[in-house]
Amino acid sequence: MDHRRHLLDAVHRDLAACRACPAMIGPVVHGPPVMSRVLLVGQAPGPREGGFGRPFAWTAGKTLFGWFESALGVDEPTFRDRVYIAAVARCFPGKASSGGDRKPDRDEIARCGTFLSREVDILQPELVLPVGALAIEQVLGHRGPLSGVIGTTQRARFHGVETDVIALPHPSGVSTWHRGEPGKTLLTEALALIGKHPAWIAAVR
Ligand code: SF4
Repeated sequence: MDHRRHLLDAVHRDLAACRACPAMIGPVVHGPPVMSRVLLVGQAPGPREGGFGRPFAWTAGKTLFGWFESALGVDEPTFRDRVYIAAVARCFPGKASSGGDRKPDRDEIARCGTFLSREVDILQPELVLPVGALAIEQVLGHRGPLSGVIGTTQRARFHGVETDVIALPHPSGVSTWHRGEPGKTLLTEALALIGKHPAWIAAVR
């Protein structure tokens, strides 16, 4: 078996055994060891994903995979088979007092970032798709309005690897940005950019 695949399996074993964050609610959720040059980075699993044992397994996933199917003709099974799905944090952070899911804090992001760093080092992605404001901030260092980055291709150094970055909004029901304007148009533009990117084309063909 490919040496890099062995390394990725080791990351997944370490992830599965991780209990480093006292406030996080297990189990650890991660996707399969897809050897892809396209890396999607989400925020953190929701309350349902642990039961299914895979990221984006509930309503946010339906919306996310629906975008790729309707805009690019790539269905959910194909997407999961061709794109490596990572996240800023791999455990459910619990609910925030405001109602949505709690955002991982700085220490949790740093701890879980060691896994992300290993994954990036192994996969050497040519295209990174951060999903939602927290992932966008981690990948691009961008903290302003989503309209400042969504709908563009950026070049960034992510965990030591130079890569193209095409950001997407968070597909959760809590976020309404992508349903109004300019979100709707910028999301359409971002998906079109992904569809034309050589790493995406190579991954899904
Ligand atoms: S969030 Fe990441 S670092 Fe924290 S316990 Fe879960 S897997 Fe470990």
